[in-house]
Amino acid sequence: MDLINEQKAEKFRKLFKQESFKQFFNTRSEISTLYTLLSEEEVDALVEENTVFIRSCSPSSRAVLKDIEENHVLNLINFDQDFYSELSPEEFIGVLLHEIAHVLFGEANYPNHMDAEYIADDFANKKGFGKYVISSLEKGLKNKWLGFTEDSCNKRISMLKENPLPTFGIDY
Ligand SMILES: [Zn+2]
Repeated sequence: MDLINEQKAEKFRKLFKQESFKQFFNTRSEISTLYTLLSEEEVDALVEENTVFIRSCSPSSRAVLKDIEENHVLNLINFDQDFYSELSPEEFIGVLLHEIAHVLFGEANYPNHMDAEYIADDFANKKGFGKYVISSLEKGLKNKWLGFTEDSCNKRISMLKENPLPTFGIDY
């Protein structure tokens, strides 16, 4: 691994302060794949925004995070482990990319809530995961997952379908 990649890997590791996140969520190489999809600048921005991925379990759980730096902000991207097996690896990565985009582009900058959603979906789409964001939204609608409202999911699906980009498949 060259120096640049070593630095990127070092910064990426900082995003996972909860040991069990990677153990639990990398069984199909999703986190390793996510690493390859993000540029060093994007990883830098996530570190700057004090972003931490945490694993949660319904209905309630505790996460222990060590070495939290004092900062102006703490961005927690959480994923409920009970939904992990419901999603394919690509759908899971698509969801993580969407949440990462919310950190990178900020939600407060978009007075219209849907614009922030479109921008987050567009980021996942540009990384080759638009198709999988669509299928995760369809799953959420079909299974009536909390937060998957018909109106906003359908708007996001049609926006993504207007801008199809090459898809990315992972080996696992
Ligand atoms: Zn969102």
